[in-house]
Amino acid sequence: MPADDHPVTRAAALQRLAQFVPLAGSRYATGRNADHGPGHHNAVSRLSAAIARRTLSETEVLAPVLAAHGAEANSFVSEVFWRSYFKGWLEARPGVWQAWLGALDRIDARLAHDDALAARHLAAIRGETGIDCFDHWMHELAETGYLHNWARMQVASIWVFTLGLPWELGARHFLAHLIDRDAASNTLSWRWVAGLHTRGKAYLADPGRIARMTGGRFSPAGLATHARIPDGADHPPAQPPRAVTAPMRDAPALLWITRDDCSLETETMLHDLPWRAVAVIDDAADSPGARADRIACDDALARAAAHWGLAHFRVNGPAGLAALATELGVQQVVTARVPVGPGLDTLVAVRGALRREGIALAEHLRAWDRAAWPHATRGFFALREQIPMLLDAAGLKDLT
Ligand SMILES: Cc1cc2nc3c(=O)[nH]c(=O)nc-3n(C[C@H](O)[C@H](O)[C@H](O)COP(=O)(O)OP(=O)(O)OC[C@H]3O[C@@H](n4cnc5c(N)ncnc54)[C@H](O)[C@@H]3O)c2cc1C
Repeated sequence: MPADDHPVTRAAALQRLAQFVPLAGSRYATGRNADHGPGHHNAVSRLSAAIARRTLSETEVLAPVLAAHGAEANSFVSEVFWRSYFKGWLEARPGVWQAWLGALDRIDARLAHDDALAARHLAAIRGETGIDCFDHWMHELAETGYLHNWARMQVASIWVFTLGLPWELGARHFLAHLIDRDAASNTLSWRWVAGLHTRGKAYLADPGRIARMTGGRFSPAGLATHARIPDGADHPPAQPPRAVTAPMRDAPALLWITRDDCSLETETMLHDLPWRAVAVIDDAADSPGARADRIACDDALARAAAHWGLAHFRVNGPAGLAALATELGVQQVVTARVPVGPGLDTLVAVRGALRREGIALAEHLRAWDRAAWPHATRGFFALREQIPMLLDAAGLKDLT
């Protein structure tokens, strides 16, 4: 995969954004669902790897798009809000993430003795099912770390309804291979396709539509004609998002950068805190997403250090971060609010290590999330109605 195909450094992401802006209006609206194959995904932005890590914020992405196209950018604006919607929805129901992890344990135990299930699963992840489009997309995912949104929907649908595989395994496979892996967008999109997000409303892949939307490249046979929605518990009721401790304005601070927010130097609220240094925790994991996390975090570390004129550090685990904070004599470690997903486990470990040293852990919640999340507790359309208000709150209304 060319290094700049799914940019994660800020310079490369800004460059991609500038190239994409002219295409983000009516051309995006009409062309965004066609999948032209690897190397030809030019009708979409391919900014997801940067947006998932907030190398670019939603405001930064939408400002030039709205300035160029105004209301003609509605379709693109709406897609960016789908991300905010899924983020907010999972914050309101963190138990859905925990339930997915628990289900994986049970399904792994089943895979160990159910040979037929294990064989179907292996054929699916190897792209050896005999379903032409599905096999192609599984290879594309493995080779490039990316799939077009429409292809993701077909893959998930065929996985669940034609191959009869648990959606939980598909979601895990995507997270392990996607360069833009995101706990909320991935888990909830799989549930949406399977008919578990909007109860009873599933997405059924259709062979004729697949042939049309891929320019006749595929003609899949044997696809399910009926969506048998998997069993699953009802959604837990929405709860207020996890409360966080805000940064103290006057207490010496160590800035901790995570993969969930790689442009904290752009947040004016954080500009005049008494910073002492900036750090990231090393992560040795090896997957396309983990490698992209490292590149994005290194880039963010260098930018933050240059912006505030700080020393920067790579530390080993939560204990390494706590040791650095102690050595620097800071009273608080400040990070971006960590969303539901794998980062929360690290956060809990960091908080424990800091508490033992008498150092506070503070999380900065972006104004974008604070404004959007309260409207993300039901269906997407409830949030969509609020988009004009949310753009206004972000200072983007004049551009619409
Ligand atoms: C089964 C499945 C799994 C998915 N897993 C992920 C994931 O792990 N990480 C991820 O970022 N997206 C995920 N998506 C959403 C979507 O497929 C990608 O965001 C999109 O394809 C990224 O390409 P792009 O940047 O060119 O998108 P564009 O069409 O250019 O959209 C611009 C931005 O809007 C957001 N966006 C667009 N479509 C969606 C959507 N349907 N849901 C949420 N946000 C959206 C993304 O931030 C994207 O970068 C998933 C979708 C499905 C159906």
